[in-house]
Amino acid sequence: MHELSLCENILQMIEQQAKDQKFTRVLTVCLEIGQLSCVEPEAISFCFNEVMSGSVANQAELKIVMLAGLAWCPTCYHHFEILQRYDECPNCGRYDVQIVKGEHMRISELEVI
Ligand SMILES: [Zn+2]
Repeated sequence: MHELSLCENILQMIEQQAKDQKFTRVLTVCLEIGQLSCVEPEAISFCFNEVMSGSVANQAELKIVMLAGLAWCPTCYHHFEILQRYDECPNCGRYDVQIVKGEHMRISELEVI
């Protein structure tokens, strides 16, 4: 259900861009999914075609790029790759680290005609 509504959000973003940039057909949709965003790429792929059906992105190809999570430790100023939201800083062991990257999903590129 979560992924279905995400696909519907993606479609809304595409349709908004189609209006702004006046294209009528989308060939490829490149999606960036952050490792920490809790979005399942398989589930997105699964409902993507169904949601895009009949829209400007009808039968568009979906390309998914996973983005690694990146965090920053305010205690020791260490930047590091983070696999889970509540991991500790590998340098000093503190848990109150801040996520810098990898929490969101976004459209990185649209190939249109
Ligand atoms: Zn630290």
